[in-house]
Amino acid sequence: MEFSHVIPTELYFGTNIIQKKKSVFSQWGRKALIVTGKHSAKKNGSLEDVLSVLKEQQIDYVIFDQIEENPSLETIELGKKIGTESKVDFVIGIGGGSPLDAAKAIALFIKNPDISKENIFKAPQLTYLPVLTIPTTAGTGSEVTPYSIVTVNTQQIKRNLGQKIYPKAAFLDSKYTLDMPYEVTVNTAVDALTHLVEGYLNTNATFMSDIYVQKGVELFAGCIPALLNRQITSDTRNDLLCASMLAGMVLTQTGTSLPHGMGYALTYHKGLAHGLANGVLLIAYLKTFKEQKNLMKLLHFMNMDSIKDLENVIKQLVHVEIEITQDEIIKYSNDLYKNKGKLKNHPEEVSLEEIIGIYKESLCYCSHPNEGLD
Ligand code: NAP
Ligand code: ZN
Repeated sequence: MEFSHVIPTELYFGTNIIQKKKSVFSQWGRKALIVTGKHSAKKNGSLEDVLSVLKEQQIDYVIFDQIEENPSLETIELGKKIGTESKVDFVIGIGGGSPLDAAKAIALFIKNPDISKENIFKAPQLTYLPVLTIPTTAGTGSEVTPYSIVTVNTQQIKRNLGQKIYPKAAFLDSKYTLDMPYEVTVNTAVDALTHLVEGYLNTNATFMSDIYVQKGVELFAGCIPALLNRQITSDTRNDLLCASMLAGMVLTQTGTSLPHGMGYALTYHKGLAHGLANGVLLIAYLKTFKEQKNLMKLLHFMNMDSIKDLENVIKQLVHVEIEITQDEIIKYSNDLYKNKGKLKNHPEEVSLEEIIGIYKESLCYCSHPNEGLD
């Protein structure tokens, strides 16, 4: 057996964990840039908790609360300007995956004055300011991953920044997720599930990442009745946050695979929420596997006997109605097929026709997958 395992992020999980671990904040400097979305952090108590700890620790701060869903490089440059002018020592990301990813990118942009949206994708690995993360959705695992997924409007795509930006510490308290709307809860939970599945059925899977997957999918499976019945208790919230964190630890080792590579186009061009875009592709992707051994093991971890069992759950949770043309499907499929980095994570040879087939089977609700398209 041989494996490498890197999770340099300190993890602090539990109720009121920010207050309990407040001394961690003062390790990283005297002035922080807080990066967050426009509304939710002010409503769910996370921003208030952070501000109270910073005041207690006499840490100065400036707030940048303009992060949109699927953050753009333009917004990240704005965050860089504010952080640079304010001479901050470290960055605190609060929110869903969008603010957390933006916080990581801003921390890197501030540290490198010559880096901009024009040259970032050609840059070697760069250094970055320390980043602390506080997730308020339970799905992306971004609080522990080194990835920052950004929207590149000039190329009309979403893509990884191409840098490894490991948060120094993550504070996970499920009380911030208690009032998440049902739709966001389901979309983000399904995102975590796809991370676990894509990380298990992955050429980079290791002994360690498989351990995290097993626990993560067990936790997810335990939450299925609550998600289906819309009876989401605080215990369910806790389990979903934990599953999402484990899934992030998996992704850090393995990276994602086909559904994520295919889902970005659906988010950019069709406006589907990130988790929904991956979830809608999940079942058709699983059906392409010729070797079923690992897939069956994964289903058994969830007490399921066949793909059909998972399909029944996904069908009840994921609803997508979009208009999509044959030309669009072919364009998105060609783009993914050229992305050799993503394809190499998939453990089997996959053809362009199979990728087109996954899109069609997932998005074209008709008796024959080729009908109903332009
Ligand atoms: P998000 O885009 O961060 O947020 C979605 C919506 O949920 C926003 O309207 C946000 O409001 C709201 N929200 C956040 N927390 C809430 C709460 N506690 N209660 C009520 N509403 C809340 O969603 P996400 O699914 O967490 O993140 C998706 C992004 O993460 C995508 O860009 C995706 O590509 C990326 N991602 C990154 C990784 C990684 O490893 N880095 C992995 C997977 C996905 P506000 O805007 O007001 O905050
Ligand atoms: Zn994801």
